[in-house]
Amino acid sequence: MKDNVEAKSVKIALAGNPNSGKTTVFNNLTGGRQHVGNWPGVTVEKKEGTYTHNSHEVTVVDLPGIYSLTAYSLDERIARDFLIREKPDAVVVVIDASNLERNHYLVTQLLELGAKVILDLNMMDMVRSRGVEIDTGKLSAVLDIPVIETVAFRGEGMEELKEAIAKAKAERGDSLKIDYDHDIEGEIEKLQNAVALPGYPSRWVAVKLLEGDAEVLKMVEDTGIAPLVLEAQTRLERHLGYDLETALVERRYAFLSGLVRESTKKRLDLMERLDLSDRIDRVLVNRFLGIPIFLAMMWLVFQLVFTLGAPLAEGIDLLMGWLGEGVSSGIGAVGGPRWLSSLLSDGIIGGVGSVLVFLPNIMLLFLAIAILEASGYMARAAFVMDRLMHALGLHGKSFIPMLLGFGCNIPGIMATRTLESEKDRILTILVNPLMSCSARLPIYVLFAGAFFPRNQGLVIFSLYLMGIILAVVVARIFKGIFFKGEVAPLIMELPPYRLPTIKGVLVHMWERSSLFLRKAGTIIFLGVVLIWFLASLPFGVEYASQESVIGRLGSVFAPLLKPAGFGFWQAGVALSFGILAKEVVVGTLGTLYGVEEAGLTGVIQAQFTALSAYAFMVMALVYIPCIAAIATIKRETNWKWTALAVGYSLVLGWGLAVLIYQIGAFIITLT
Ligand code: GDP
Ligand code: MG
Repeated sequence: MKDNVEAKSVKIALAGNPNSGKTTVFNNLTGGRQHVGNWPGVTVEKKEGTYTHNSHEVTVVDLPGIYSLTAYSLDERIARDFLIREKPDAVVVVIDASNLERNHYLVTQLLELGAKVILDLNMMDMVRSRGVEIDTGKLSAVLDIPVIETVAFRGEGMEELKEAIAKAKAERGDSLKIDYDHDIEGEIEKLQNAVALPGYPSRWVAVKLLEGDAEVLKMVEDTGIAPLVLEAQTRLERHLGYDLETALVERRYAFLSGLVRESTKKRLDLMERLDLSDRIDRVLVNRFLGIPIFLAMMWLVFQLVFTLGAPLAEGIDLLMGWLGEGVSSGIGAVGGPRWLSSLLSDGIIGGVGSVLVFLPNIMLLFLAIAILEASGYMARAAFVMDRLMHALGLHGKSFIPMLLGFGCNIPGIMATRTLESEKDRILTILVNPLMSCSARLPIYVLFAGAFFPRNQGLVIFSLYLMGIILAVVVARIFKGIFFKGEVAPLIMELPPYRLPTIKGVLVHMWERSSLFLRKAGTIIFLGVVLIWFLASLPFGVEYASQESVIGRLGSVFAPLLKPAGFGFWQAGVALSFGILAKEVVVGTLGTLYGVEEAGLTGVIQAQFTALSAYAFMVMALVYIPCIAAIATIKRETNWKWTALAVGYSLVLGWGLAVLIYQIGAFIITLT
């Protein structure tokens, strides 16, 4: 019982550099109950206080503020003598953690002396506000001492500190051994064997002697060790080529800087990142370089998306081809009905497959966008284009979705999510399908190749340009009708650049790509099945013939298309199928005319004229977004805007095709 009571009385010392917060910690621990006297023999103030914690009676002695344990100053000698003579159960070293390396010097000295150290990392508020992370666990493991984080002037961490103090008595550790390198270590060992000072760790005595500590030398005077020490010092200094004391201090600091490097991590401070961003922006958002750099960046993105994506897309195309053939021949082999194999291979696999083909491109595009967004460049791109876009009545940020639309309108529409203004977002969505997506290219290539072999490039370019001009005109008109008087805010925030994380980029890419996949599995799937039924019914008709429902529908459309110069049912059907996916237009013409794509040129040359071919291409560019795009517009807005997007594009596409054909025909009659 008596042992137990004794075990509960603990004596600790508070040590630390001046201004590290020692007195604040002392007052926190003792609640200000203190006894002030003088250190024995000197007039330096000695403060003592007590507190109880979990029935532990703890006496706290506030040592003078010191930087090291050499005996150069009175304060240092008082602290050292107290630690050695009184042997407190623990020394709480309060350090300013925002200045770790300098403050740690005292800690290592105490550890070398064999003191039971509890490390109080004070001023953690300063550390955190400077963006430094201290790995307390590592520090504690390396030094083999408890480490507590505190913010003393707010009382934070005091309970933890008391807890560590209560446990300290039970703990026994060896004194810290700093490696002073080979030569010095040899001399330390010799001296350690030659002299002993009761109450002091022998290694510490040896190091102090080499260091030339007058106090320690005096204490061992009688042993006649002085000449031995001198010899060792001379040997070492000759060997080192410089002052031995400096060498020892250097080794300690080498240990400290290693320790600090290992246990702290400096996050790039926000101000530093902003500063760095500013410097990068001086180039990237430069008035002259901004746009060329942006264009180069976009060229890179498209290169990545289409060059890298092409072989992957081909692979999926091949896979779908095999799958379709396999399914239909499999169903044929087991004597299954022909309609089933047609539904599966012509309808579902062909239709959904023609959309899935774009999955690699879309994933790569989203990868590129995710990287540009995460790094902070996307905001710059919008900034660079802002002035130009404003002249066109759109917000600078609208530019990115429009640009993406050239690849595929679906990511383009989804990218409008970066626009804060709902009005800008809806406007940008509504005109996005006018950006000529890559699915329309096969149509242009077929028709321009057949009718404008010498000016093919120019004709195709004119279609892309027409899309852009139409988008601007339509956006201005809609703005005037639906969002009158509302001016989009001009704030363009430029967040600091940061290195994108692989995980973050991949997660973003997958989130967006999986949305596209889900669409292929639902809306596109249903649309495909519907069109297949229309092409197969009524029973007994040839698939996609004029007698089928879709053929008859095509025949209904045909008169409507007549003023545009292509009033035959196959064109109507091809355009209807094109709603599924624009690239299906060419394939449909192939099916309807019963020729391979290679033979198509001859057939369409017989049915179209150069003028009606151009009108057809304009119609294919403008009329109704594809099913996937419609579904995306619906997802991103509501049925009202979706209906408007479908309606205006149909009317505009038809109107333009008619206008072009009629004006062209009129000019031809004049000449
Ligand atoms: P001592 O010289 O080691 O006794 O230090 P003091 O206890 O007198 O504290 C020095 C100064 O640091 C005082 O102004 C305290 O208010 C302040 N201080 C103490 N602890 C903290 C802390 O955790 N964070 C910050 N920012 N300041 C502190
Ligand atoms: Mg003080």
